[in-house]
Amino acid sequence: MQLPPDVVTKIAAGEVIERPASVVKEMLENSLDAGATSIEIELEQGGIDLIRIVDNGHGIVAEDLPLVFASHATSKLKDADDLFKIGTLGFRGEAMASIGGIAQVTVQSRVKDQDEGAELRCNGGELAPIRPWNGSQGTRIEVKHLFYNTPVRKKFLKTMSTELGHVSETVTRLALSYPGVHFLLKHNNRLVYEVPANATFKDRIALFFGDELAKRLIHVDLGREGMTLTGSVGDPTDDKANAKLQYFFLNGRYIRDRSLGHAVQESYRGLLMTGRYPAAFLFLTVPPDTIDVNVHPTKAEVRFRDSSSVYHLVRSAIKQALLKHDLVPQLQVPDASPRSEQIQQTVAPWENPSPQPSIFSETPKTITEPPLPVSWGEVIGKPTPTQGTLTPQPTPVNNTTYIPTPIPVTPISPTLTQTPAPTPSQTAEAPPPNRAFPLPIEKLSTKAIQIHDSFLVVETPEGMLVIDQHALHERILFEQIRRRVSEGKLEVQRLLIPEPVELSIHQAAAVMENKESLAELGIEVEDFGGGTIAVSSCPALMKRASPAEVFKGVLDVILTKDRTPTKAQLFDHLMATMACKAAIRAGDRLSLEEIDYLMQLRQLAEDSHHCPHGRPTSLMFSRKELEKQFGRI
Ligand code: ADP
Ligand code: MG
Repeated sequence: MQLPPDVVTKIAAGEVIERPASVVKEMLENSLDAGATSIEIELEQGGIDLIRIVDNGHGIVAEDLPLVFASHATSKLKDADDLFKIGTLGFRGEAMASIGGIAQVTVQSRVKDQDEGAELRCNGGELAPIRPWNGSQGTRIEVKHLFYNTPVRKKFLKTMSTELGHVSETVTRLALSYPGVHFLLKHNNRLVYEVPANATFKDRIALFFGDELAKRLIHVDLGREGMTLTGSVGDPTDDKANAKLQYFFLNGRYIRDRSLGHAVQESYRGLLMTGRYPAAFLFLTVPPDTIDVNVHPTKAEVRFRDSSSVYHLVRSAIKQALLKHDLVPQLQVPDASPRSEQIQQTVAPWENPSPQPSIFSETPKTITEPPLPVSWGEVIGKPTPTQGTLTPQPTPVNNTTYIPTPIPVTPISPTLTQTPAPTPSQTAEAPPPNRAFPLPIEKLSTKAIQIHDSFLVVETPEGMLVIDQHALHERILFEQIRRRVSEGKLEVQRLLIPEPVELSIHQAAAVMENKESLAELGIEVEDFGGGTIAVSSCPALMKRASPAEVFKGVLDVILTKDRTPTKAQLFDHLMATMACKAAIRAGDRLSLEEIDYLMQLRQLAEDSHHCPHGRPTSLMFSRKELEKQFGRI
């Protein structure tokens, strides 16, 4: 049976026109295609009663008005082989025909240099005669009573404010990809927002998402293999609970793409807590023939021919931007030159007889990172040496028992938290003869003091940093542990007697599902049945905490997720927990050497600005700011 044409139109409309926002999107695209530089959108009742869009584009000549509503009629063109080759947003010639079929539409338009414009009404697909219209150049289209003749579809509409939200989102996407165009949105006669034509991209982000986010945006720009990625990503501190602030544009057109979202997430690995998402406004440009023709009616989804190089471009571009970004401009994060070289250079003058392995080594064979300063051994979980023991302890031979770098111990107390460290001047003038750090004070590269046994105040070339010692050390350890895990060099400590942990049957099952990932992290578990899990090993680094404690930390990640965590999530979480447990704490008094050492490591860290949980490790006060505050400038 052949369906009557008006039914076909209604069905087709359903594909594209779901709600007022879909109408607004199609109409805005037409205005932009017509070269409009100013577009005003007015809605009543979320757009359900009325959508009115007025643009200053090139307009439509009177004779062409009926074509606006003709199915498959388009003035744009011609060969729709690949929509991304086309310079216009529309080309199917279907949208206005669809809208005309399910609403009462009036189009009024006047082209440049013509004295008079014309008007055409279309009621549920029925065209009225063309009439003269006396308006200014451009096009004015009113869409009234959307879905008036398709009540079922109308039922699916949500509340006025939800529909307005969708419209606003549509306008936002276009306003971000069309800088230079003035947009104004009104709802029930009240201004929702106005985007001036001269508002920059950053201004637009500020307008839609707030000044704070806009201020801290990180610029992204990378080209490779004929593709480019530009735009901005958010500072990790501006993370969100969902990915709604991630916008992707492909060759100027807004798209949804899960793999791009994934690439963004990967780039922030270690900078954000699990379940948090950064803002991202990214414009990808690729040769048109590397994208597959889009079959999606709203054109929002695409298929890349070489999705993996797109993925890698996005990930590298963002990673590079994050690394380069001067969150704390005074201390440059090392650039992309090989890490081992940097480490060698940095530590050359620090050569120390301290034997390997150390948790601070990247690759124990070749790298000589600064030795572990005295008394950190305690902090990271080294068995407490007898006070005053001055000889290094033997290198561990049993690879199942991890003993961190043997650390010569000085008379400084092994329990940092209880005994005060010597004052800086004591340390400077009379270092104990067998200090781990026989470093003359003038060689210390950092001018810094510790306050409240928790924060370091450090002079930098451009000002002053206040560092959270725990957060910074935690970050440094996190990176070191991550390296060890990825190289399979994480030391494991096996327990003589496995420690039982009582769980519900359901919880125990969830744990056993993750048995392998846990094992890779040094946590071996066995199912004893009845909800009892036995923990038989844990990473040696975690000495401070009992294996059951470590296990319970990871358990949280396994159980609080509604779905099984990915291995990467589990790893990140556990590594962060390990780093947290092993790091120096607030309240640990540090010697000048230790501070200096921490500062050296800071420079080696990939991201010294955030702890593994995403909190900042340091605050910066520029010299300029200080001078300003004191009224010097
Ligand atoms: P498409 O955009 O795919 O060409 P549409 O159904 O969206 O198809 O629009 C049909 C035609 O109506 C367009 O090709 C264009 O010629 C005309 N048109 C619609 N809106 C406008 C506008 N605001 N300014 C100029 N021409 C318009
Ligand atoms: Mg169109």
